[in-house]
Amino acid sequence: MRQVQLYDTTLRDGCQGEDVAFTVGDKLRIAERLDEFGVHYIEGGWPGSNPRDADFFEAVRRLTLRGARIAAFGSTRRHGVTCDADQNIRMLLRAQTPVVTVVGRTWDLPVECDLRIPKQANIDIIADTVAYLQARVDEVIFDAEHFFDGYRSAPDYALACVRAAADAGAKLICLCDTRGGSVPGWIAEVTAAAAVAVAAPLGIHCHNDGDLAVANTLAAVQAGAVQVQGTINGVGERCGNGNLCSVIANLQLKLGFACVSPQALAGLQTLSHFVDELANREPDKRQPYVGLSAFAHKGGLHVAAVQRQREIYEHIDPESVGNHQRVLLSDLSGRSNIVYKAREFGVDLDAKGPAVAKLLDELKEMENRGYQFEGAEASFELLMQRVLHGYVRRFRLIGFRVIDEKRVEGELPISEATIMLEGPDGQIEHTAATGNGPVHALDSALRKALTKFFPEIERVTLLDFKVRVLGSERGTGAVVRVLIESGDEHDRWGTVGVSHDLIEASWQALVDSVDYKLYKDIKSAAGTVPRAVLRSGRTAGGRARVAGHGGEG
Ligand SMILES: [Zn+2]
Repeated sequence: MRQVQLYDTTLRDGCQGEDVAFTVGDKLRIAERLDEFGVHYIEGGWPGSNPRDADFFEAVRRLTLRGARIAAFGSTRRHGVTCDADQNIRMLLRAQTPVVTVVGRTWDLPVECDLRIPKQANIDIIADTVAYLQARVDEVIFDAEHFFDGYRSAPDYALACVRAAADAGAKLICLCDTRGGSVPGWIAEVTAAAAVAVAAPLGIHCHNDGDLAVANTLAAVQAGAVQVQGTINGVGERCGNGNLCSVIANLQLKLGFACVSPQALAGLQTLSHFVDELANREPDKRQPYVGLSAFAHKGGLHVAAVQRQREIYEHIDPESVGNHQRVLLSDLSGRSNIVYKAREFGVDLDAKGPAVAKLLDELKEMENRGYQFEGAEASFELLMQRVLHGYVRRFRLIGFRVIDEKRVEGELPISEATIMLEGPDGQIEHTAATGNGPVHALDSALRKALTKFFPEIERVTLLDFKVRVLGSERGTGAVVRVLIESGDEHDRWGTVGVSHDLIEASWQALVDSVDYKLYKDIKSAAGTVPRAVLRSGRTAGGRARVAGHGGEG
């Protein structure tokens, strides 16, 4: 199995992407994770271009890395200046990294039109810079900018440039598709030609402007490249860089190349999400291999099939990249989805039994009203326990009132919520709270009231709140769906509410959220949900009398 070197440039090229910014602390944490994962080279930044990168290089020297080599990135010296006098080269050396990656021109057009220097002068600059650095650092990598465009325009010149770098001592020549517009056939052809013409090993650095960066990277490896440069999740300038998550998975699982150990590969999803988290980006659900939807099945037929033989709709074993098979609940739900889902919650159901039919009916009816349980699995679990086992929540709403009052023009309104509810032993609790907006006030009042009976509610935090306005095709006005994500020190869970009234929809989701907390604590203490609890609710699910608003959800 041929080994392929991984060269990560998330911390340099990745940061050139719009909306991507890492602090020095973030960069250090990412570097540690990349090293643990088994990346061979970590390009930390461009010390000549920004002071934050210089700080990173200073700090990264104190990290103990298992195997990754840190690289600093910069460009060849300026025309008419010696390397000694070149500020950018000086900064590169000041980074004190074992590896320096230096980028130079290989396309005649920008050499003549942008740099405006003789073509031979550019070759001299490359040779000179590489030789100078080679004498001062462990390893010099030469990034051949625009190589694939240069080769089309003037192949002999492009090859002369990279040969000059190799002859001057560059350990590896990385061919760059800088504009990101090449196609795999061309990448393969040019890489193969370069492999014949240049003695040094080759790498590949692709951008994604034609949505082909991953395919182009694979094509280059198949044509002889031994190093792949890219970023985690493909972040980077314009449309991004080659996405290393997909590159690694494809190389290793599809093409038989070795990149990291199989155990490390099983951490791919975690690594991907970690980098997104630090970049403050919502992970892309549809990202191949590592996205949450990558192995999610919705259609009833598909679900039935993957349960029998997962290969039918899954191109790899999801666990090999740390992902998991998921079965989604939706209006396509069939009996097999429900049986599968119930099993996830530790409930064994007979697909042909009446319980499944009952649950399916209930689910279809709710979906018709606008409920959707993807992302609200806590609400689904409560629903399932309610329909199948008669689960009843241990408190009952008597009523609530929410006031949003604006007293002075130009000042924010004040929100206040009053709530009356009945605790497990029939005590009535009447509480008020204020908040930043009506939903926050309602949430505060609900918790305040419930904490009297259930102190554990205090540990629940509201992590995310999403409102979606659904169409009004039924001619009854728009319906809103509220999705809430809550968490405590152990878990995170999602709940949903639907209504014409935003406050009421929020209320349903909030109630499910705290109810789920109570339910799950009992469940985890007992290992299962005791029958006694399921039947003990004294209100028996009766509809609440609500002042001002519709019934309890
Ligand atoms: Zn790049």
